Amino acid sequence: MNSEAQAVEVDTNYDAFVRMLSSLLPEHRDRWALMRHGEVVQTFDRVGQAFDEGRSRYREDVFSIQEVTDEPIDLSEPIDFTCPRCRLEVHEQFYGPCTSCRTTLRATVGSEAREVHDVAYEPKMNVTPNAVALKDD
Ligand SMILES: [Zn+2]
Repeated sequence: MNSEAQAVEVDTNYDAFVRMLSSLLPEHRDRWALMRHGEVVQTFDRVGQAFDEGRSRYREDVFSIQEVTDEPIDLSEPIDFTCPRCRLEVHEQFYGPCTSCRTTLRATVGSEAREVHDVAYEPKMNVTPNAVALKDD
């Protein structure tokens, strides 16, 4: 992982997040926003869901997660959190797998070079207009 690229990504996302926070709060309060290139990709009930989605969508760790709250945390400052992978309490610069986990992940999935372009993609809930009624005779 290029930590400089991640630092830039986090800064970009945080700036954008602060600007759009007032419009996010009414519908997304207390949810977790997965952010990429200064845009909210999707929001989630739990930080772990946002993290898992980020990891599955984006190569390496170039995305960030912000809690939709009145007092957003600037993730460019080190924070205390539980590593989502090994569950240890850590104090690190970015939310995500801790340093030792990242080292392990890089060793195991480092050759993976999948790039995802659908940054703004939002899964749509498909509504089935008529569920097939079960006949009961
Ligand atoms: Zn860890």
